[in-house]
Parts: sequence; structure tokens; C-alpha cells
Amino acid sequence: KTKSFGAQYKTDFPILDQEFDGEKLVYFDNAATTQKPNSVLDAVDNYNRTINANPHRGAHTLSVKATQAYEKARETVKDFINAEKAEEIIFTRNTTESLNLLANSLEDLVSEGDEILISLLEHHSNILPWQQLAEKKNLKLKYLYPDENYRISLAELKSKLSEKTKIFSISQMSNVSGTINPVKEMAELAHQKGALVVVDGAQGAPHIKTDVQDLDADFYAFSGHKMLGPMGIGVLYGKKEILEKLPPFLKGGGMIEYVKEQSSTYAPLPEKFEAGTPNVEGAIGLEAAIKYLEKVGLDQIKKHELDLTAYALEKMKKLDYVEIAGPLDLEARGGIISFNIKDIHSHDLATIVDSAGIAIRSGHHCAQPLMKFYQLNSTGRISFYLYNTKEEIDRFLASLEKVREVFGYGS
Ligand code: PMP
Repeated sequence: KTKSFGAQYKTDFPILDQEFDGEKLVYFDNAATTQKPNSVLDAVDNYNRTINANPHRGAHTLSVKATQAYEKARETVKDFINAEKAEEIIFTRNTTESLNLLANSLEDLVSEGDEILISLLEHHSNILPWQQLAEKKNLKLKYLYPDENYRISLAELKSKLSEKTKIFSISQMSNVSGTINPVKEMAELAHQKGALVVVDGAQGAPHIKTDVQDLDADFYAFSGHKMLGPMGIGVLYGKKEILEKLPPFLKGGGMIEYVKEQSSTYAPLPEKFEAGTPNVEGAIGLEAAIKYLEKVGLDQIKKHELDLTAYALEKMKKLDYVEIAGPLDLEARGGIISFNIKDIHSHDLATIVDSAGIAIRSGHHCAQPLMKFYQLNSTGRISFYLYNTKEEIDRFLASLEKVREVFGYGS
């Protein structure tokens, strides 16, 4: 019997080959953090065993090798999102840091009365930095509202954009509802009003083949740990001509040209935005993750995730005690399903499902404005990646029955 897509790749991920109390692990928390294939684990290990040194300006062999490895990883990231130049790739810790960097460094480009436009589907990471900037500079923070099917229309965007909109920041895919936003069309509309366009690609880069030149976003942020790479490495892409105009966010070693007693000048891109010793092993791990994803093919992965989503949605829709918090059809949707079991809190749900070896998330998913809008206190969430299978979904569905039984609802 030939192995299914998911089963075929699962063997590359050693962590998935374990049992808890005799139950084989099912990992459905990929929107939070993904697992690492052997090639990523080996790349990081090998770097630490043979190269580890502080990059930049070191004259000794290891330092030169560390610098080369780090810059090679930058090239790989550049190619992965089809950026034009390597200096447009800034390594950060994660999406959150990328967005904070931006909100701080864009300060001089906005003034009182200007508007920042985001959506109600955003993760707190794409809300709080803009709230802070709005407060500091007396700007207005405006929101795009989704419809009853968790989608944001272009008409809604048109109605909220104005000549005052200076920054428009939107997620490529919601980490709660799985909604995929038409970011290319949105970027075009926002550019027509002269706004800078920021795309939160935390859930995009891992699942949707993205070409930043085609997308034409001014900035694009994502995290390594959501795409098979290590934690503590993230990316901020920015168009060179804009990044060059922005002041640095963090200051210190590695980002200077000259330092005098009372003032300093800064290094060119990308060093200007990378103060302090960088996470070289993280960058090496991210590079290996990208190589792995490209070998499998992002389009193949997306197809597989949609296949799993269609399968799960179809079955979940038929259960009268399940309420789905996200688009019910497959259009413009990724492999994330948020849901509730009637009368049962999502934390109880997650705990009981966990006892069957199944890892799912529960809570507000760092998106409280979205939860409030749809009058949800919390939801359970399953999210898929290349190594998941339909058999795992069957086990998950069976465990939902168990949740009902534990609470005395029976089947
Ligand atoms: N944006 C979205 C859409 C996310 O899903 C996440 C992570 N859940 C983030 C931003 C923040 O990512 P990180 O925690 O890696 O900074």
C-alpha cells in the first residue's frame, strides 16, 4: 500500500514518532508552532559542532565561516519570497519583533491626524504596535470588519481607505479563522491612496507560495518556528528604498559605521536593523526549513492542507454539537479550523482531547477583538501541516465524541 502524502513526510519528523499513555501523538497545533524535520535538526547541530562563532568583522576562520553561513541563509530567504535584494531581508526574533521594529521605525513618516488601517482579524502582534504608534503620534487606528463568513471584502477596504491612511497592515491568513485575505488586491488599493502596506505573513509564508515583488507589499513579516524552523528567528522584508529611509529600532553593536562620544552613524542595510549578536543558528535552521519546504513544494503542501480541511469540515459540519468559527467553504481558506463544542469550554475540550494523544489549541488565540466581534469567549483550534493525515482527523473526531461523553451528553 502506498503511503498517503502526510504519512510519507511524517517519518522525517522524529518528534512525531512518540506515544503518550499508549496513544500515538497527533499534532494539530501547527498554527502556533510547527515541528522540525531531521534536516533542520541536523543543520543546526552541524553548525554548532563545526562553525559556531560571532559573525561580522571577525578575522579568524570560524568567524568568517559563521558570517558566510549567516549571509547564505539570508540569500535563501531572499529567494524563498523572491525579494529583489538580500539587504531587504532583516533577521529578527519573530513576526512580533518584525512588526514592533516597523511600528517604531515608521514614526517619523506619520503625523497627527494620519490614519493606520488594520483588520479585526489581526493577531495581537499586528494590533498592539500600531496602538502604541497611534497613541504616541495622535493618529487614528481604524479597523476593517469581516462579514458573517469571516471574510473581509474589498468594498470594506475601499470604504475605510482615505488620503489620510498612511499605514495599512493586514494578515495574509488569520490564525483563528483560517481566512486568507486577498492581500495583493488589498495592497494595490492601499497604494492607490499612498499608504505603506505591511503584510503579516506569520500564517502565510509557511503555507502560501509568496512572491513579495508580485504582492508588492512594502513590508512582509514572518516567523521561522511556524514553518519547520527554529524559534527565535524571524524575518522582516522591506523594500530597500523605504528601509534605507527608516531609523534603526534597536541600537548597539553590529549596526554602526562610526561611534563618537556624542553621536553615531549607522551601518548600511541590513546591519542597520540587526543590532547585537544575531541568531546565526536560527538562520541556519530557517534556511534548512526553507530547503525542505521547497523540496516538498509549497503548492503541494497547500493542496494537502486543503484536502485535510475539506475532509474535517465536511464531517464537523454534520455534528450538531460543533460550531465552526471560520469560513465554511474552501474558498480563500487555509488549514486552520476554530470551533466550539456546545456547552463545553475549549480548555476542557483541549484537555480531554489531549488525553487521547491529540494536541490542539484552545483560548482566544491572541485575537481578542475578533473573539469579541463574533461573541466568542474562546475556541478550540486544529491546524494542519504537511505531516498530518486523514487518519489523524478520524481519531480527533472520535475523541470529540469522548468529550461529549465525559460531560454526560452522550452520542
Ligand atoms: N501574526 C499571526 C497571524 C500569527 O498567527 C502569529 C503567531 N500565532 C503572530 C503574528 C505572532 O508570531 P510570533 O509569536 O512568532 O511572533
